[in-house]
Amino acid sequence: MSDCIFCRIAAGEIPAKKLYEDEHVLAFHDINPVAPVHFLVIPKLHVPSMAELGPEHVEVMGQVMTTVARLARENGCGEGFRTIINTGRVGRQEVYHLHVHVLGGPDVLPAML
Ligand code: 5GP
Ligand code: ZN
Repeated sequence: MSDCIFCRIAAGEIPAKKLYEDEHVLAFHDINPVAPVHFLVIPKLHVPSMAELGPEHVEVMGQVMTTVARLARENGCGEGFRTIINTGRVGRQEVYHLHVHVLGGPDVLPAML
C-alpha cells in the first residue's frame, strides 16, 4: 500500500469528491477549499513534484493541463481562474505528489505578483 495520500485517492483507498477520472488523470475537490471553486488535478503516475518532471512526462502533463482547462470551463470558471503548482519546501508544497490547484469563483482572488 502506498504511503502517498494522492496515490491512495487515485487507487480508491481514500475517498475524495472526484470531478473527473480517466486512465492517466484524476481531478478532485480540495478537502480544505480556499476559494468557491478549488479542485486539484493530478497525474495518476506518482511524480513527487514539478521538480522531478522530465521528457517522459510530457504526454501526461499535457493531459493534466487540458483537463484543467476543460474542468475550469465546466465548473463556473468561464471568466477566469488561477492555477498554482507548489513545488518543494520553498514552494510550500505539503503533499509530495504533483498536483495543479485550480482556484476560481466570482471575483474572490486577491491580486498577486
Ligand atoms: P500543497 O501540497 O500544494 O501545499 O497542497 C496540498 C493540498 O491538498 C491542500 O490544499 C490540501 O487541502 C489538499 N489535501 C491534503 N490532503 C487531502 C485529502 O486527503 N483529500 C483532498 N481532497 N485534499 C487534500
Ligand atoms: Zn503519489
